[in-house]
Amino acid sequence: MSALDFTPTSTTRRLGDDERARILAAPGFGTHFTDFMAHARWTVQDGWAESSVLPYGPLQLSPAAAVLHYGQEIFEGLKAFRHADGSVWTFRPEANAERMQRSARRLALPELSAEDFLASLRALTAADEPWVPEPTGEESLYLRPFMFASEEFLGVRASHTVDYYVIASPAGPYFPRGVQPLVVWITDEYARAGAGGTGAAKCGGNYASSLLARRQAVENGADEVLFLDSETHTGIDELSGMNVFAITRDGRVLTPSLTGSILEGVTRASVLRLAQDRGLEVAEQRLVMSEVLEQLDSGEITEMFACGTAAVITPIGSFMAHGGTWTVGDGGSGETTLALRKELTDIQYGRIPDRHGWLTRL
Ligand code: PMP
Repeated sequence: MSALDFTPTSTTRRLGDDERARILAAPGFGTHFTDFMAHARWTVQDGWAESSVLPYGPLQLSPAAAVLHYGQEIFEGLKAFRHADGSVWTFRPEANAERMQRSARRLALPELSAEDFLASLRALTAADEPWVPEPTGEESLYLRPFMFASEEFLGVRASHTVDYYVIASPAGPYFPRGVQPLVVWITDEYARAGAGGTGAAKCGGNYASSLLARRQAVENGADEVLFLDSETHTGIDELSGMNVFAITRDGRVLTPSLTGSILEGVTRASVLRLAQDRGLEVAEQRLVMSEVLEQLDSGEITEMFACGTAAVITPIGSFMAHGGTWTVGDGGSGETTLALRKELTDIQYGRIPDRHGWLTRL
């Protein structure tokens, strides 16, 4: 049972039908926002209370709000998909709810129940229903739940007031001109997460600390940055916003194990399952970067890809580092990578049966 009811406070739309239609014709990613947002507040005295769906707009925040100084903040990301019959669904939201609870524990924030998390998504997508794009390609409504320390207090301790919001942003196909393999820069200078740190939590600080390395990747002509483990600088961890997979010539599907320094991706877990269903051998294990590069040169590894909610499954075409460049397969999109990508998106858009029960109607 959900304790919070996220009651709408208004039905007045922020944007008119014409403007919405213009945005939905070319939504891009993360730049346009819907008419409403869901909100709930937690206080140390009363716990979670005061939930509502409000008009989308700027927040009022004290300049002394703890989040602005100490970064006590977490977030989630998932999508709402419109099916051909008009119904609206989301993918494995309970996994995002549980991950947000784990992130909350690590950042000393209050946990939101899975029921309340789902209730917030339902309330917002009900209010913003016209914003869920028609699925002509790979369009969706990206949902961004987040929670932060809003107490006006500069002492260093867990905040006594916390705000939770969900905002939504229509998303076009990640690759409008078809799937493009990524060029990935291997950073030998920066780490994203250390042992005992926050790598397994989805907190803003992890992304802040990845930005310089990502900028360096772009300056070197790459699209994305790959982080190695911070202890030995030899094992593959993940990209700044995606998990990494390798497929061997003999059909083994490999991904780094969850050591505490990488984020447990919902897409990662789904790919492991879909690969298993195909009869492929899957393994979560330590992947040593130098060995992977050797296996790319020898042809032992034939495909690699990155995966996450936004880009779904994206082939990795090549790696770059100070020591050289390594091409994955022929540098294009691998066959198994594309087959897994198609199967996952076919499930999400309701084009094939949801045999694992991964979809939840909103
Ligand atoms: N790793 C990081 C660091 C991420 O930010 C994300 C995106 N949430 C992922 C992996 C992939 O997670 P998911 O498949 O749940 O989107």
